[in-house]
Amino acid sequence: MKAQTRYLTDERRWKAVVDRDKSADGAFYYAVKTTGIFCRPGCASRLPNRDHVIFFASSPEALAAGYRPCMRCRPGGVSIDEELEKNLISACRVIAQSDRIPKLKELAETLGLSPYHFHRMFKKYVGVTPKQFGASLRARRLSASLRSKDSVTEAIYDAGYSSSSGPYNRNQDRLSMRPGEFRAGAAGITVSYAIARGFLGWTIVGATDRGICAIEFGDDPASLPRQLQDSFPKAQIVPAGPGFTRLLGEVVRSIESPRSAFNLPLDIQGTAFQQKVWNVLRTIAPGTTLSYTEVAEKIGNRNAARAVASACAANKLAVVIPCHRILSKDGGVSGYRWGIDRKQALLDHEKEGG
Ligand SMILES: [Zn+2]
Repeated sequence: MKAQTRYLTDERRWKAVVDRDKSADGAFYYAVKTTGIFCRPGCASRLPNRDHVIFFASSPEALAAGYRPCMRCRPGGVSIDEELEKNLISACRVIAQSDRIPKLKELAETLGLSPYHFHRMFKKYVGVTPKQFGASLRARRLSASLRSKDSVTEAIYDAGYSSSSGPYNRNQDRLSMRPGEFRAGAAGITVSYAIARGFLGWTIVGATDRGICAIEFGDDPASLPRQLQDSFPKAQIVPAGPGFTRLLGEVVRSIESPRSAFNLPLDIQGTAFQQKVWNVLRTIAPGTTLSYTEVAEKIGNRNAARAVASACAANKLAVVIPCHRILSKDGGVSGYRWGIDRKQALLDHEKEGG
């Protein structure tokens, strides 16, 4: 079993801490509220009181929450100069507290470091770049906000995205792609879902803490969660809470009106090649189509038509990534993950101006 899936619950994490389970190292970190220090699960230091312990998925998160790395188990990974450590922790705080991700130059200047040196040190000790760190914090805030706010838009603003950047910007989807986790069958990821009836039948919408990761169709609502599980074999699939209703409604509406802007954050999971293909698909306007070969040409490999067809078949975000707008060379409506009838219905609908 993957380390990440073994330590999903706080109970299991705490047991690993009690057992000083070295194999849990890297899967999570624990911090002690009374001492302000965070450790690896296998740390040999005295066992803290359970009530004072909180868990973090990564050391940057623990740093951002104001905890210092333990000198004994060195959860930051490497020993670090005290002055530099202080600087990096304060940079983490600045990023965590600002509404937008601060510019590298600004961050470096406040610490009296060159942007190059700062970037290098941040990456080395925190494990990710300042930009990635900010993005993951915002995604986390977004997921918390989506649960508590009525409106998705409100939640998105609340999480510190602005209308001109953030999840509305297609180019930024890249931030939420996780090819490594995708290859692991989405191990350690929770996918919340809800089901609604749309004009193409039953529709299941799945979302991770970063955005919508699946939009799929089926004839039988009862079998849709299993279908979702097949797409993300190792993820934890759970029914979404009431805060998901609006999101679901927006997705269903956007399928019915493909010409309206789709403004929700996406969590696109696929290989680098699939992402390339899907990015091309997203440039095809409603009512128009391309052939597999034309898409292959657009990604600069005109012999890859077959691989393009596979990437289309692997798409889990129906309509939003419009794989239905790809026809075979002779213009025939071939192959669609959710059935050729649905593909034809979508094409007819768009031709009629829907
Ligand atoms: Zn320790």
